[in-house]
Amino acid sequence: MNDLIRPSRVVEVLKKFGLAPHKGLGQNFLVDAQALEKILAAADIQGNELIVEIGPGLGTLTRELAKRGRFVVAVEKDKKLTPVLTETLADYTNVQVIVQDALEVDWEDCLKGQPPPYKVVANLPYYVTTPLLMGLLESRVVFSRLVFLVQQEVALRMQAKADTPEYGALSLAVQYYAEVKVKAVISPRAFFPPPRVSSAVVELKVRECPSFFFGLKDERLLFRLIRAAFGQRRKTLANSLTAGGFLRSQVLEALNICHVPPATRGEKLDLAVFIALAQTITRLREE
Ligand code: SAM
Repeated sequence: MNDLIRPSRVVEVLKKFGLAPHKGLGQNFLVDAQALEKILAAADIQGNELIVEIGPGLGTLTRELAKRGRFVVAVEKDKKLTPVLTETLADYTNVQVIVQDALEVDWEDCLKGQPPPYKVVANLPYYVTTPLLMGLLESRVVFSRLVFLVQQEVALRMQAKADTPEYGALSLAVQYYAEVKVKAVISPRAFFPPPRVSSAVVELKVRECPSFFFGLKDERLLFRLIRAAFGQRRKTLANSLTAGGFLRSQVLEALNICHVPPATRGEKLDLAVFIALAQTITRLREE
């Protein structure tokens, strides 16, 4: 039994090191064995895998990752937690703790010399979920799976389908890179201190080469299109794409070829249509 999952033990450890949870760093420590089990079930770690953990905190999840995987690289921003992690992870020789802001990590550089397969498993600090997630998806390292505990509302946005209130640029970006599934909803009571909102375990099965998978020629153009379409949500697509720097004549022609009425709004279109539009604009530019 991992004693760090007990709320009384978390309080004891914090007291011993003279620490208090740092709100600004999103320190809500996991204190629920069932929630921990749900993360591990979604992660489905194999003995040959290298696991990246962001924000090990007191080392509760880290220990479980180390028991299951080949090696764990844990990136923690709060250097005050170093003596805690040195003690709680003393028996785990396959863990490397890196004290750094995970937003500043070059993942390719960080994992140099470590053979794949790689996965990421983390109870994320909520204030940086989106940039951390996009940094991982856009890096050239292929993580086969990302399993995160995030705010439930963010998990629903990641998984959302077109024409629903949660749908937006984040849904499209994440669904381009990965197959997304919300695996479990976790109550605030599973954390110390409890956050104000519910959380969810979300699993992202990452596509090895999304541009090849979708037969897409110009990935950057797709993301420019998505940003433009959602940058000005209330505008029609014809107007928002033109305002986003696309040539109006090419926008109108591409919308026509893809059977999208120019007065449609971005939130009505699914990823397949955005990809078709990107491909068409690329072709029109080449003509
Ligand atoms: N993994 C632990 C657990 O499950 O109990 C702690 C999770 S807590 C929600 C988030 C952790 O991320 C904290 O330890 C916090 O210090 C760390 N953190 C916050 N911002 C970070 C950043 N930018 N880079 C790396 N770690 C960060």
